[in-house]
Amino acid sequence: MLFSELSKYFEKLESTSSRLSLIEILSELFKKTDSKEIDKITYLLQGRIAPFFEPLEIGMAEKNVAQSLANAYGSTKEDVLRLYQRLGDMGKTAQELSQNSKFKTQNLSVEEVFEILTKIAKTSGEGTVEKRQKLFTDLLKKLDPVSAKHLVRIPLGNTRLGVGDPTVLDGLALAKLGDKSKRKMLEGAYNRTSDLGLIAKTLWEKGLPAVEELKVRVGAPIRSELCERLPTPQKIIEKMGEVDAQYKYDGFRVQIHKNGEDVRMFSRNLEEMTHMFPELIEAARKQIKAQSVILDSEALAYNPESEEFLPFQETTKRRRKHGIEEMAGKLPLKAFVFDILYKNGKSLTEKPLKERMEILKETLPEDDVLIRTKNQTIKEPKVLGVLLEDAISKGLEGLVVKKLESPYEAGGRNFNWVKLKRHSGGELNDTIDCVILGYIAGKGKRAEFGAGALLVGLYDSEKDEFVTVSKIGTGLSDEEWKEIHKRADRIRVDKKPARVNSLITPSVWIKPEIVIEVLADEITRSPIHTAGKYGEEAGYALRFPRLVSFRGSDKKAEDATTVKELIEMYSDQGKKD
Ligand code: ATP
Repeated sequence: MLFSELSKYFEKLESTSSRLSLIEILSELFKKTDSKEIDKITYLLQGRIAPFFEPLEIGMAEKNVAQSLANAYGSTKEDVLRLYQRLGDMGKTAQELSQNSKFKTQNLSVEEVFEILTKIAKTSGEGTVEKRQKLFTDLLKKLDPVSAKHLVRIPLGNTRLGVGDPTVLDGLALAKLGDKSKRKMLEGAYNRTSDLGLIAKTLWEKGLPAVEELKVRVGAPIRSELCERLPTPQKIIEKMGEVDAQYKYDGFRVQIHKNGEDVRMFSRNLEEMTHMFPELIEAARKQIKAQSVILDSEALAYNPESEEFLPFQETTKRRRKHGIEEMAGKLPLKAFVFDILYKNGKSLTEKPLKERMEILKETLPEDDVLIRTKNQTIKEPKVLGVLLEDAISKGLEGLVVKKLESPYEAGGRNFNWVKLKRHSGGELNDTIDCVILGYIAGKGKRAEFGAGALLVGLYDSEKDEFVTVSKIGTGLSDEEWKEIHKRADRIRVDKKPARVNSLITPSVWIKPEIVIEVLADEITRSPIHTAGKYGEEAGYALRFPRLVSFRGSDKKAEDATTVKELIEMYSDQGKKD
């Protein structure tokens, strides 16, 4: 396929405002794609040239892209940046400059463009910036205006296509299996491999049975199993029977992959974070008694002498790209390991938790920097209650309670794992992760910061849609508004994104990307919000919502609290036993 043809599809995707048509456009595109290009197109749709977890980044800063545009179209960097200021989007800037230039475009194929982007990503050593700029300039000179527009957004990580992974899976299913609901058949492989390109290529080359056969691989992150909520120890034992109760550590989730001496680490949302934690890498090499392994763990700053767990705000200082060695000295991490998913070439995800915990004990016999989670088999609500108090007195958040017989359900959130936190007199005892969908312009003093209220939403995982749940206005400091404005401006869009479902129209829509942690007094029913609103029925809303924190990069918009969770929290609220 020609890159110009792919760009026309990108154009269509960008301009549609319904999720159903996103799926149809994708399916039409996929039908025209052969097995040599299907993986590449799948990655490009995500603004990537490799799966999300591979650290192969095209990585060019705005000013370097601007310099490439200037070189390609005979302008200056300053003029390009001025035009960018006016248009608010580097893609449109490239399109306009390209329209006014006199190059003869060449018909490059998707493969050719992909190859050059890969070359840019792999450029390293002295003069990397200049070499990348040169390659990018040469590429731009060969492309038509619409192609240039979409190409330029790739190294900036801002594709604006509005497609999420489930939507891509829907598109693949519709194109190849004839029905988008057959996405379900691809989901298992997606949860095990996290690699849409691999799934697409396998489906195109070998068909559905081969996709279903795709296995967990060391080096490719598995989608994390997540927790449901229940309000009390009684409810937990009633629903789950005998359980394995573990401490719930409040740091960040780290999936550790060891293959011989090669150790890699992935975050909850599958990003590679190996370089951030040198002490955990070293510990994995030393402590793990196996050739190859995948462990699930929670990393946090902990002082073993005083047995103090440092608060999340401290631990999170380790999520940084620079000054790593220095921070590792100041704030060394421990990883509390709570599961083992793979050992010596074999997946363990099908085995019951009870067995996995035994294997974990053999694989990690001694505690040091990697520490096996404290756990206890319990069948009495009272004993569970005592363990909860014990966890809280140690400064932990609570417990994660797990079904002894359950397999590791990659990407699942169900009653195999349940979190139990301290209950506070009928109020909601857990925060809600919301996605900012837009903002409503403020009046007076607020207007200076460009916002008066945020329109926030949740994720409907069934429909792969974002639905509204609240407006948040009060309680944000001027600094927080500034921060929101800074982040939101980069991703503002002209119209409602296709996957957003809202009855409210804010002054400015933004791409669903920024996740904030919100505390509210209560969940109520409301006709104006679309969270959980089906037909004429009222939706759900938050009463007295307030911002607790920005979730940073550990959560993608799709990792926000789901509608299903909210409805469960609604029916649990106020129950003390
Ligand atoms: P989410 O459920 O979406 O991950 P969250 O990030 O707010 O939301 P919680 O739901 O509060 O986290 O708790 C689940 C998280 O707790 C896990 O993702 C993991 O990072 C952490 N955790 C800490 N200790 C454990 C444990 N023993 N077993 C499993 N998860 C644990």
